[in-house]
Amino acid sequence: MEIHVELKTESKMFCGCKNDPYRSEPNANICEICLAHPGSLPVPNKTAIEWAVKIAKALKCRVLDESKFDRKNYFYPDLPKGYQISQYDRPIGENGLIELEFLPGKNIREKAKIGITRAHLEEDTAKLAHSANGKETLVDFNRSGVPLVEIVSDPDIQSAAEAKAYCQELQTILRYLNVSEAEMEKGQMRCEVNISLQEENKFSIKNGIVEPAKGYKLNPKVEVKNINSFRAVEKSVAFEIKRQTEMLEKGEIWQQETRGWNENKQATVWQRIKETSADYRYFPEPDIPPFNPLKITSDVDLPEMPAEKRIRFREEYGFSFADTDILTSDINWANYAERTMSELADWLHTLPETESDTDKIIQNKKNQMARLAGGWITSKLMGAMAERKIDIRILKIKPENFAELVALIYANRVNSTNAQKILSEMLDTNVDMDPTHIMEEKGYGQISDEGKLAEAVEEVIKNYPAQVAQYKAGKEPLLQFLKGMVMKATEGSADPQAVEKILREKLR
Ligand SMILES: [Zn+2]
Repeated sequence: MEIHVELKTESKMFCGCKNDPYRSEPNANICEICLAHPGSLPVPNKTAIEWAVKIAKALKCRVLDESKFDRKNYFYPDLPKGYQISQYDRPIGENGLIELEFLPGKNIREKAKIGITRAHLEEDTAKLAHSANGKETLVDFNRSGVPLVEIVSDPDIQSAAEAKAYCQELQTILRYLNVSEAEMEKGQMRCEVNISLQEENKFSIKNGIVEPAKGYKLNPKVEVKNINSFRAVEKSVAFEIKRQTEMLEKGEIWQQETRGWNENKQATVWQRIKETSADYRYFPEPDIPPFNPLKITSDVDLPEMPAEKRIRFREEYGFSFADTDILTSDINWANYAERTMSELADWLHTLPETESDTDKIIQNKKNQMARLAGGWITSKLMGAMAERKIDIRILKIKPENFAELVALIYANRVNSTNAQKILSEMLDTNVDMDPTHIMEEKGYGQISDEGKLAEAVEEVIKNYPAQVAQYKAGKEPLLQFLKGMVMKATEGSADPQAVEKILREKLR
């Protein structure tokens, strides 16, 4: 994978122009440097170098103590200088690693280690807009010179699912670092996939003797561009694996080439023969001296990274694998879950401990609580928010109130149906509402009073004599029907377990 990421620094990579290519009027943020006027000189952006070091460290790369910029020469209307300032042989960082984990059955292997070849800095190009009649092209230089970090992976990705997961993990890391929005649809993160199939146990002929090739034979690679979603990453890889396999089976061979992902056709289409690095005639940028990235940046402190957070969420709180994945994919959700859990831990401490409570029982209670809270956040809360188009960043329900709702469910003071009604009210009222207050006011609390429940059960037994007779004759499933009728009569506020117990007693 080759991934380009736009950094959200205040200014551009080599000039003081505002870095704001998406909101400004066309050609508002431009100067002599990003327009490449003769005699203008580039000055590297210190923050961009600092952030590139941060990214390199987060990807577990070795940061080079001497890095430099190079000119990558090619001719295109979106490139005013006729070359791009990039980094050739001395990138910011190299030899990194991203580790991926998959649930059983979701990938060809459960763990994948993807090496990072390099992470380097460069500048973005201008943006071309072609008119509908195809006769005119307009150039917007606002994007010209925006800082880009290119991250190249080793050929370690073995499936379409891994390619997608790798891109998602990278996006999460970039967002945790707060260095880029990394929105694929906006082009802030651009993924190019290089696919080449390896054939195992091919034979080679050396000095007239046939011998097995060592390991694998790598076939020419195919580069796919124009990918603007994670789904498209996955689909284009799957498409190429199939296409190249079919060609190999027919004995066809191809040249290294560049293709584009066509969303309408759901296929990759041929674009051109791929350039090799010799075509770019790289040479050192004479206007910027080599530099030590670690010396010009202040100490780079990394926040807790997604992989570490996932391990901690599972071990410390006992969240399930699936919930952990969802909760840690967005730092705002991770923080919300963490605050909810800390409230719930406090609440658990207030419960009377019986003398028979061993450490194991206490740990079990915590785990049950984590499963309940995790499930309620990832399914019910996220679902209800999605329906209402509420983003986590503007959610009004405070973690302490959400934790209280989970505690009410955990203590059987409200059943799941009514808890969802309470959640809806908490989301729909603009003030931060206390769930216990809503439960009491609306009478959503669970009826556990045996006397009241017994009355409701009697009533149902009286009203459904035929079903009662069938149940007594051995038709066990009818118990669920009768239970449902009691739940209906109590408008869903009866404790279902208590209802079942009373029904069984009365029908014995
Ligand atoms: Zn400029």
